[in-house]
Amino acid sequence: MCFDGGVRRVVRIPDDVYEVVMNGIEKVKMREKDSEDRKTCDEVFDKGTLLAIYKLICDGYFKILDFPISTGKEGNVFRAVKDDGTYVAVKIYRVSTLTFRSISRYIYGDPRFRGTKRRRLLIATWAKKEFKNLMRAMDAGVRVPRPIRQWENVLVMEYIGDDIGPAPLIKDVDLDDPERYFEILKNAIRNLYVNGKMVHGDISEYNVMVFREEPVIIDWAQGVVIQHPMAMEWLRRDIRNILRYFSRIGVKVPSEEDMMRFVVGG
Ligand code: ATP
Ligand code: MN
Repeated sequence: MCFDGGVRRVVRIPDDVYEVVMNGIEKVKMREKDSEDRKTCDEVFDKGTLLAIYKLICDGYFKILDFPISTGKEGNVFRAVKDDGTYVAVKIYRVSTLTFRSISRYIYGDPRFRGTKRRRLLIATWAKKEFKNLMRAMDAGVRVPRPIRQWENVLVMEYIGDDIGPAPLIKDVDLDDPERYFEILKNAIRNLYVNGKMVHGDISEYNVMVFREEPVIIDWAQGVVIQHPMAMEWLRRDIRNILRYFSRIGVKVPSEEDMMRFVVGG
């Protein structure tokens, strides 16, 4: 089976490997047969993406895509199984429908990503940005899915969940001790800013999972370093989201200004 992997190369995929990739994909499709996500799956696996998945399988990062965890607007997240039976999460940025206007402003303002132009490359850059942000956040002491590998538009990371399924989002959990979660997230935002010199930019109850009684912050592609012109505005938005959510579930929260002062130090 041959695929044209883009302008520069033609890669021959051995039939057995092709089968391994497609088996996983077929399984995914079967499960989604009755939903409109069927179409989504076809869109996700364009040739370039199939090649990227193939490479990651060959390099041993996982052997099969197990099931789709989420089909978002800009990408899909799958659970994947490794040879030893453990799981990883695989986030695949969709090449065809990713909205450029919405992502380019994050990338062009960030000095680490000057001069990226072509579409495919831009999507890969977006995946790389999430990978790097995950690394940076982890180094700053924030609990995130551990990044494992990024290749083109595919990101492999620690799977947050168990055999049954992914861990729930915080918005869907009835927390016993919401104050503790607020404290941890408050410190996470500060550590991110002070140690990591970065801002997540999309923190809300939709991007925090609850795993082993700890909050895990996900969805890092739009994160920026603090030199970014929008960094302070997005930091304020993150803070506002967190304050709004925790005050809604009954936690006594500080004012926005106090929390800003706490985070940026002083
Ligand atoms: P959305 O548009 O829904 O926000 P997205 O493309 O921004 O999606 P994420 O928010 O990173 O992607 O992930 C989508 C969903 O996939 C999450 O809500 C979560 O349920 C699940 N998920 C993400 N990362 C992981 C992970 N490492 N382990 C398990 N599940 C995950
Ligand atoms: Mn999200």
